[in-house]
Amino acid sequence: MSHVVVDNPHGLDQQLAALDLNPDGQGGGTGRRYIPPHLRNKDAAKNGFGGYENKDGGWGGAPRDAAYNSFGGRNDRSKSAFFNDRGAGSRGRYERGGFGGGGNSRWVEDSRGEDDWSKPTAPNERLENELFSGSNTGINFEKYDDIPVEATGSNCPPHIESFHDVDMGEIIMGNITLTRYTRPTPVQKHAIPIIKIKRDLMACAQTGSGKTAAFLLPVLSQIYTEGPGDALQASKSSGQENGRYGRRKQYPISLVLAPTRELALQIYDEAKKFAYRSHVRPCVVYGGADIGQQIRDLERGCHLLVATPGRLVDMMERGKIGLDHCNYLVLDEADRMLDMGFEPQIRRIVEQDTMPPKGIRQTMMFSATFPKEIQILARDFLEDYIFLAVGRVGSTSENITQKVVWVEENDKRSFLLDLLNATGKDSLTLVFVETKKGADALEDFLYREGYACTSIHGDRSQRDREEALHQFRSGRCPILVATAVAARGLDISNVKHVINFDLPSDIEEYVHRIGRTGRVGNLGLATSFFNDKNSNITKDLLDILVEAKQEVPSWLESLAYEHQHKSTSRGRSKRFSGGFGARDYRQASGGSGGFNSNRSGRNAGGHGGNRGFGGGGFGGNFYNDGYGGNYNHSGSVDWWGN
Ligand code: ADP
Ligand code: MG
Repeated sequence: MSHVVVDNPHGLDQQLAALDLNPDGQGGGTGRRYIPPHLRNKDAAKNGFGGYENKDGGWGGAPRDAAYNSFGGRNDRSKSAFFNDRGAGSRGRYERGGFGGGGNSRWVEDSRGEDDWSKPTAPNERLENELFSGSNTGINFEKYDDIPVEATGSNCPPHIESFHDVDMGEIIMGNITLTRYTRPTPVQKHAIPIIKIKRDLMACAQTGSGKTAAFLLPVLSQIYTEGPGDALQASKSSGQENGRYGRRKQYPISLVLAPTRELALQIYDEAKKFAYRSHVRPCVVYGGADIGQQIRDLERGCHLLVATPGRLVDMMERGKIGLDHCNYLVLDEADRMLDMGFEPQIRRIVEQDTMPPKGIRQTMMFSATFPKEIQILARDFLEDYIFLAVGRVGSTSENITQKVVWVEENDKRSFLLDLLNATGKDSLTLVFVETKKGADALEDFLYREGYACTSIHGDRSQRDREEALHQFRSGRCPILVATAVAARGLDISNVKHVINFDLPSDIEEYVHRIGRTGRVGNLGLATSFFNDKNSNITKDLLDILVEAKQEVPSWLESLAYEHQHKSTSRGRSKRFSGGFGARDYRQASGGSGGFNSNRSGRNAGGHGGNRGFGGGGFGGNFYNDGYGGNYNHSGSVDWWGN
């Protein structure tokens, strides 16, 4: 039986490769690289590369053209047909090892494709268990179904209700079954058909809404349908230039940029599931970890790359990654990437290198919010995109119980202990603090008090962070003390309780934090300690509570009233409303179109249970000042009645 070792960095072929055995000089002149048994006798580099050079001298000169030509044929099945004629016999050989060893030379020699990428490769029970054992359970979908989604932009395709409503091919459908995703989440219902018809997408949805699969499923599905195209040859070409096996530059077909290593790893894990039984090899690169190991992993083949921006620039500058054939670009948590200062790296990657321009590649941006900076990025990176606004879980359904309690600074610790004692011992509690020092101090305190806890913040080494996260997830340390930055984007499921030991000053941050609980329809609890120091968030917090139909403490109401009248000049740049984090700023030029019936007053729209779309409008409006120029609300009473 053909053997498949997919995507496991500790997999057998990787381990063997690391041994660096010296078989018989098949290693393309280096004589050093181990060729796995299933790839031997393939006449490796010694003749393969030569043949390649003769065959395709044009490569060095015009790789871009070659790349672009392939786009014209995105839907052209001729390439796949071309792969088809190899028959199943070659499949096992190609698999993983094909990249590390002589498989590519075989390709060159025959000057034809190995396989049909749309057909599943052989199953592998061990790998299957490894990938899918920890899949989800207990999703509260009824609640989740209520979330409003609004799509704007020209010729938007209808959304799907089931994964079967759109043809994503055998491999994807099989893997969806294995993950036990029974139904698409709201963002998936809308994003999947949009991406499937090759439209660019700007999607605003909160953490935990299922964005990862929303882009991975249709992107991978398209890669399977269309095959590797020129990317595969480009990689071989570069291997030839370098004259050694395993030193090839990789040309991923798809790139996913993510802000943090934890998030990148999560996407990578999800990608491995949906790449199971396919020819696509996902890779991940991120800072703070050994680059040598990441490079070696890339050299084994990389079709879908998940990367943090800084590390990717490094890889590009080292000549390890070329983006010439990157047909699919995804920016995940784009707002967070900008917050973290990655814009120069992102522009370097997308605009100042060899990536196909917008309109040629397909680009998808995901963000929890849609502030001005993201609008600009969307304008620069996306072509005629569809804008998707997905309602917030915490606002439109009552999945998260939000409590705000008045606690003076000095009482916070004892109050926290009370809360922890009230919560069951096995449920995971996430405690947010403002500073790294505060995180350390609180962890020490809890530890001294006999609680199994750990902490995560920006000063922790990569290893420490991973270890802490593992301890938390596994339940060994069911209390995690975190700073906002360190916790961003983490998919920590089953968090029962989020405690804002220190409230943020920013309501978006608040929404992000409480989104750690009640994820994908599970019920959760969020408790926030409030005192004089938090007056700046009073009004926004009140709005959120009202909107989510939560109990509002009367002192908060009075405070908000005072606050509003003290500082009427305060900008509303961060205002959420109506259950959406944002709105398509391109809409509603001239004012009325997008906002029609809900503009009349602050109690008519998003407050008090509006689940529709109209009320949400002004979230985008305020972001829009000074950019795009679509809105003109001067002189009129705004939605808030001011
Ligand atoms: P986001 O990127 O929006 O924060 P994720 O993609 O990380 O959200 O998904 C959150 C969780 O929901 C993950 O554990 C994921 O496995 C799970 N999930 C995603 N889509 C589905 C689905 N259709 N059915 C069940 N669970 C899902
Ligand atoms: Mg995500």
